[in-house]
Amino acid sequence: MLIVGNLKMYMNYNAVKELIDNFDEDVVLCPSALFIPYFLNHKYKVGVQDISMYDLGSHTGEISAKQAKEMGVNYAIVGHSERRKYNKETDEEINKKVIKGLEEGLNVILCIGENKGEDKEEVITKQLLNDLKNVTNFDNLIIAYEPIWCIGTGITPTNEQIETTISFIETKIQENFKKHVKVLYGGSVDKDNINVLKKVNNLSGFLIGKASTDYRQLKDIVASLRD
Ligand code: PEP
Repeated sequence: MLIVGNLKMYMNYNAVKELIDNFDEDVVLCPSALFIPYFLNHKYKVGVQDISMYDLGSHTGEISAKQAKEMGVNYAIVGHSERRKYNKETDEEINKKVIKGLEEGLNVILCIGENKGEDKEEVITKQLLNDLKNVTNFDNLIIAYEPIWCIGTGITPTNEQIETTISFIETKIQENFKKHVKVLYGGSVDKDNINVLKKVNNLSGFLIGKASTDYRQLKDIVASLRD
């Protein structure tokens, strides 16, 4: 099971130091870019929370897939719902980021998922077809199914709902790209619900936000999944 922590912009330097001093489990952590060298120095598997759709150039504030790879980063989250919403990222841009990340040899974690009231199948189909346009090599691609109504809300879908959605994603990928893909679940995963969520059949792992910033809780989650 792949466990990925999206630390977002939750942690200041002291919190990062505390995590590094106390946590050495085999997970992928995606901290704020500023802190990445600390994590790399301590031999963590590290991911960036976003990558640029460009290579090197005049793009203030951006990090390219090439730079990430050069520094020893091996994972990139792309298309997170917060970036889709607050940074107004379009599927066209996300598609370019996915392609750049894969070209540079990063493991790309593409986040998809519907909001409350939206037609789940319609949203997911549109995201998959647009975000993966012209993608041919799926070896390093990971899909994170993250229903927006579950992110940071303390609500999770039922295991049956997650299973059905993952099957739907797998079918769409098979139909349109003739490939297999690994799917993670993300949205309010914590130490209390992990024992239930880990029973979802067709899951390859979890993308964990808030709970991953608390190393004690993350240790509990890892222990439960290694059981
Ligand atoms: C996320 O935003 O990717 C996420 C999974 O957040 P949380 O676990 O805090 O709901």
